[in-house]
Amino acid sequence: MRLSRYFLPTLKENPSEAQITSHRLMLRAGMIRQSSAGIYSWLPLGLKVLRNIEKIVREEQDRAGAQEILMPTIQPAEIWQESGRYDAYGKEMLRITDRHEREMLYGPTNEEMVTDIFRHNIKSYKQLPALLYHIQWKFRDEIRPRFGVMRGREFLMKDAYSFDIDKERARDTYNRMYVAYLRTFARLGLVAIPVRADTGAIGGDLSHEFQILAETGESTLYYDKALETQEMLEKLADLENNEGIVEKLQSLYAAEEEKHDPDNCPVAPENLKTAKGVEVGHIFNFGQKYSASMGARVLDQDGQQVEVEMGSYGIGVSRLVAALIEANHDEDGIIWPQSVAPYQVGLINLQAKNAECTKACDDIYKKLQEAGIEVLYDDRTERPGAKFANMDLIGLPWQLIVGPKGLEKGIVEVKERATGERQELSVDAIVDKLKA
Ligand code: ATP
Ligand code: MG
Repeated sequence: MRLSRYFLPTLKENPSEAQITSHRLMLRAGMIRQSSAGIYSWLPLGLKVLRNIEKIVREEQDRAGAQEILMPTIQPAEIWQESGRYDAYGKEMLRITDRHEREMLYGPTNEEMVTDIFRHNIKSYKQLPALLYHIQWKFRDEIRPRFGVMRGREFLMKDAYSFDIDKERARDTYNRMYVAYLRTFARLGLVAIPVRADTGAIGGDLSHEFQILAETGESTLYYDKALETQEMLEKLADLENNEGIVEKLQSLYAAEEEKHDPDNCPVAPENLKTAKGVEVGHIFNFGQKYSASMGARVLDQDGQQVEVEMGSYGIGVSRLVAALIEANHDEDGIIWPQSVAPYQVGLINLQAKNAECTKACDDIYKKLQEAGIEVLYDDRTERPGAKFANMDLIGLPWQLIVGPKGLEKGIVEVKERATGERQELSVDAIVDKLKA
């Protein structure tokens, strides 16, 4: 993509409405634009990152055996009246009346809707386990939307739902998802601490929140440092044979401040760490709460009607964009991990008015594209200083800096955004390096 044609409305000044780094940087890097409180448009650069995160989330859900569907954003009130949550959900639910005076709502989550799909289609234990997910916009009329997409009113969530014949199998499914979550966050380059949580309004008895560490996190965590290193993650590659490891991980201590009792903490002081966390995922096993209230039953092996055991599993996909920036930035801007970067390389033409320099840049641009590397090419006639600042702000992993002086010697400068390390290489060597 040529920057001269790219819709990238960056800001030089810090927007006054932004209180935290990720919100500031997302606005400055032209990733999002607020439409009303807690509701945003995603501009090209922001959307690219959102889609990259979505892709990793999707791959890990598929790998765990979940099947993708797409449920609507607008739901009928009846199913929520059946489950008893229509009144219980309160003011966070955006309620809508259609032209026939039917009560509808913009979905804050989908337990009811997926249970409705299930009960109409699945009738036998032979069709279990069933594990369905979608990646869809949600609306929650948060009392205090803030920090940009971190706590929005409209936000993108991956939510999966599981149906099992008995508690034991439901627990296995829960553990598969637990592993899928650790793998997902690891692929995003994040350290996620799983913290045992209350099940709250969703109900049930087993739940973990996944918290990534960032100074601006809303919760304070205390945890066994073994969870941070997640050395066991590699071994979790084998989903079928991870029993012991999941149990080991789930037995390690982690608690939010309100539940942490220093006098009764099972972790030795030298192994106990504390940090702020941002919740990026939440998984629940809630048993028969919805299958009982909504009549989701199957025939078991003995021909008896039984209510299925359910779980639900959420990841805040749009919140992750902000969380990733909280975890990866410096005073100059964002530092995207390669796995989600909107482009891998920023190509900077230092003298766009110089025909030779421009020809060399055009050639490099073409070569990189042919090698399947995504490039953002700054072909504008701006000052070098402005170009450097802009590239640092938007945080692509690699910068190629091309000027007439280097070209005379046949070299181009390559800078790694994360470390600031610079190298001078020939064009071919650079293409090889970036391909690797
Ligand atoms: P929180 O405690 O942050 O309000 P929650 O417990 O209400 O979160 P869940 O219902 O478990 O959240 O939703 C699953 C995931 O969706 C959360 O882990 C979070 O990443 C994301 N999420 C929830 N609310 C918001 C929001 N208002 N804006 C952006 N993402 C959100
Ligand atoms: Mg909430």
